[in-house]
Amino acid sequence: MISGILLKGYSGFYYVFAEGRVWECSLRGRFRIRNQEFLPGDRVKILPGTGNKGTIEEVETRRNSLVRPTIANVDQAFLVFACVSPTPDLNLLDRLIVQVAASQIKPIIILNKIDLGSLEEKNTAGNTFPADGLDFYRELGYELVKVSTKTGEGLAELQEHINGKVNVLAGPSGVGKSSLVNALSPGLELKTGDVSRKLKRGRHTTRHVELMVCGEGLLADTPGFSSLYLPHMKREELTDYFREFQDAGECRFADCQHHKEPNCAVKAAMEAGEIQQSRYEHYCQFLEEVIAAERRY
Ligand code: GDP
Ligand code: ZN
Repeated sequence: MISGILLKGYSGFYYVFAEGRVWECSLRGRFRIRNQEFLPGDRVKILPGTGNKGTIEEVETRRNSLVRPTIANVDQAFLVFACVSPTPDLNLLDRLIVQVAASQIKPIIILNKIDLGSLEEKNTAGNTFPADGLDFYRELGYELVKVSTKTGEGLAELQEHINGKVNVLAGPSGVGKSSLVNALSPGLELKTGDVSRKLKRGRHTTRHVELMVCGEGLLADTPGFSSLYLPHMKREELTDYFREFQDAGECRFADCQHHKEPNCAVKAAMEAGEIQQSRYEHYCQFLEEVIAAERRY
């Protein structure tokens, strides 16, 4: 048996990526009896048959699963922003970092459209960005990849991050997510068109999400994390997602929420310029949202 990752299920067949190629698999009977649901991203064991045919024999327990798009075992989310048109919404970026990390998914920031100039250049026009654009996220320990889907710059570096992982894109509209999917798609024809003719089905149902084979990694063809709501979490958990707060020193109160308390080391670090003001402000806003959500539960 060989291990693989489910790319998509379609009309009773399951397409599995294993050992560098795609296998068209059917299900072992007991899965059908249990009416077990499979998701793209499910890690499976297949028994190879003739040609590219196989049978799914086993499925592993999921490490996580997204609701939109419905994909299991996502490793990384690329948080896509453009350096201009539209300029990055830092509140949304920090929100996505929290959402993604709360799902045990690693966030990687992508700054697209670098052919249109850099954020640093835009800063001279006096907007509210930190002088180094988004580079300060690198100092916080986040990976940041600068790309242009137009010139192809940075795409090779992005591909290295994709390899060996199950990836999903997230970000506001207009930043170039579809362009990225197109730029990275290998032209491996897995689209539903060829089979749907035969079955005359799927025309009135929403197209299913699938994972595309992209170099040596997998990428969801539909972006995720489109909801603006923070997931349900404890206040202390929120602080964990603002990793620079950990280095701020001791607050007067051991259980300080770094909001309105006196002698708060985090607030002092922000005032001293050691913590980005935008990060601190977004934290305070998210904290209020988390507290408001607690009251509803
Ligand atoms: P989405 O809404 O995030 O899927 O964004 P799209 O992929 O539809 O792109 C929005 C617009 O930005 C389109 O007009 C693209 O042609 C354009 N665009 C995408 N990537 C780049 C880029 O790297 N450079 C430039 N100049 N334009 C881009
Ligand atoms: Zn504090």
